[in-house]
Amino acid sequence: MRNIQLNDIEAFSRQQLYNEKSGHDWFHIERVRKNALLLLEGETGANSAVIEAAALLHEAFDTKLDVHRRSTSGEIFNLLTACGFSAGEGTDILHIIENLSFKGGRERPSLSFEGEIVQDADRLDALGAIGIARAFTYSGWKGQDLFDPELKVREEMSEREYREGESTAINHFYEKLLKLPALMNTDRGRKIAQSRVKVMENFLDEFFLEWKGIK
Ligand code: ADP
Repeated sequence: MRNIQLNDIEAFSRQQLYNEKSGHDWFHIERVRKNALLLLEGETGANSAVIEAAALLHEAFDTKLDVHRRSTSGEIFNLLTACGFSAGEGTDILHIIENLSFKGGRERPSLSFEGEIVQDADRLDALGAIGIARAFTYSGWKGQDLFDPELKVREEMSEREYREGESTAINHFYEKLLKLPALMNTDRGRKIAQSRVKVMENFLDEFFLEWKGIK
């Protein structure tokens, strides 16, 4: 029986993301891990240790993190093998981490089933009440406005406007967050995503009533 030390990976991630301010903090990691375990319930044949490790390390190289917080893939690979994963599993986990956050502009990378679970778990944390809170946290950290009714959503912008343009917290709902249920990999993830999006739609209805001074 192999002894995989997820506790050491957890300690590494906790330390790496302690006090991170853009919404990619340790508590985000902890929620993604819990979401992943929830999505995994009743699934047989998946490598749950790979899923947990990928969830714990999924922000390790994110360019949104301050440079001093980012790890290299070599560091993560060494950590994984030191914690009991085989070289093959280490490579699989790196593949998940590197391809989780699909930004478009390149061919959609194919993810393993384990990767699909972690991707859904990460997307769930961008939805619902937590998702609303994170969008405003990220936006404040970036210095974006709350909302700008004049600003087009990014899809309507030219390439140049896109590069030079700023988003706002509310615009980001339309650019990305409300579209996430359609992108979910698993049926269970999609159902939870749909219910979380309803919370956001209710919030937006209320937001615009108050914005227009109707209430
Ligand atoms: P991923 O986890 O796929 O890498 P991001 O790092 O893009 O996702 O986003 C992390 C969090 O920050 C999400 O909750 C997302 O809603 C929020 N966020 C990202 N970009 C923006 C933006 N331009 N405006 C507001 N919130 C954003």
